[in-house]
Amino acid sequence: AAKSEGRGNFQFFSQAMNAATHERVMMETRLWLALGEKQFELYLQPQVSLASGEVVGAEALLRWHHPELGMVAPGRVIPIAEESNLIFAVGDWVLVRAIEVLAEWRREGMDTLRLAVNLSARQCQGHELLPRLDQLIAGAGVDPSRLELEITESTAMRDPESTRGLLRQLRERGIHVAIDDFGTGYSSLSYLKLFAIDRIKIDRGFVTDIETDANDAAIVTATINLAHSLGLTVVAEGVETAYQSNFLRSRGCDEAQGYLFARPMPAEQFRRFMLEGKARPAVVP
Ligand code: C2E
Ligand code: MG
Ligand code: MG
Ligand code: MG
Repeated sequence: AAKSEGRGNFQFFSQAMNAATHERVMMETRLWLALGEKQFELYLQPQVSLASGEVVGAEALLRWHHPELGMVAPGRVIPIAEESNLIFAVGDWVLVRAIEVLAEWRREGMDTLRLAVNLSARQCQGHELLPRLDQLIAGAGVDPSRLELEITESTAMRDPESTRGLLRQLRERGIHVAIDDFGTGYSSLSYLKLFAIDRIKIDRGFVTDIETDANDAAIVTATINLAHSLGLTVVAEGVETAYQSNFLRSRGCDEAQGYLFARPMPAEQFRRFMLEGKARPAVVP
């Protein structure tokens, strides 16, 4: 009985594995089609200066509208794309669209806004990124200093020597670099002096409970001070409450991003958001 049961388990296991593989292959195929079928959209989430209350930029966030699956979160899209070579096509689509947004902003007189774009690990390796950026920026005639690239600590530490070279060359061009999800990567802080970075983004995981968790509040405060001591600016992610916003402002955090100010939205809606003067969300006393 044990023997046949064992075989049954194995069959079940391999069926489950086949289902998982099948699912992944399906998603890869759908992603390829999505590029041609224009199912991707770049949403923009405002970044607000905590000192002035003004919107000073936005983060570009990928959205995939699938005709049957509906909206697929980037947290699902990016890992699948990373595991196949799709990440290069998807990443390129994001860059092209982001530079387009910067060009639109310039035509509309919103050329002081900065746009932050997430880079995946594999996009940072290889030699295509810099020439492609040069080509897109020159083609659209946008100011490179309006562009910010976000990389995570783990992306940066995959190959520290090549990251160092890449970031130096980005800085030469005036392109800004932010470390995304700061504090979640289990890496030492020594890379901060190694790399030419401009900003640190405090991960939402530290921000969510600052009102109730003294350790999180201490970590956030220390991160702001660390960044400023190093001459870097700080953005806090996932700010949802007035308490969090006020806490961050009182600790000197430069900028914030989160549902308190606005959710990520289509570019056209972002334009209206700026024009309607919602650019100054009330700073709650
Ligand atoms: P991320 O770069 O850390 O982006 C911030 C995420 O937090 C976004 O999730 C945003 O919608 C969400 N968020 C912003 N404010 C709040 C808030 O107040 N509360 C909560 N609960 N969430 C908030 P999203 O858009 O689902 O993106 C998830 C992740 O997917 C991103 O994390 C980034 O790592 C990745 N991603 C998104 N777009 C791209 C892209 O174009 N390229 C690459 N390589 N990765 C991307
Ligand atoms: Mg990001
Ligand atoms: Mg982040
Ligand atoms: Mg994240």
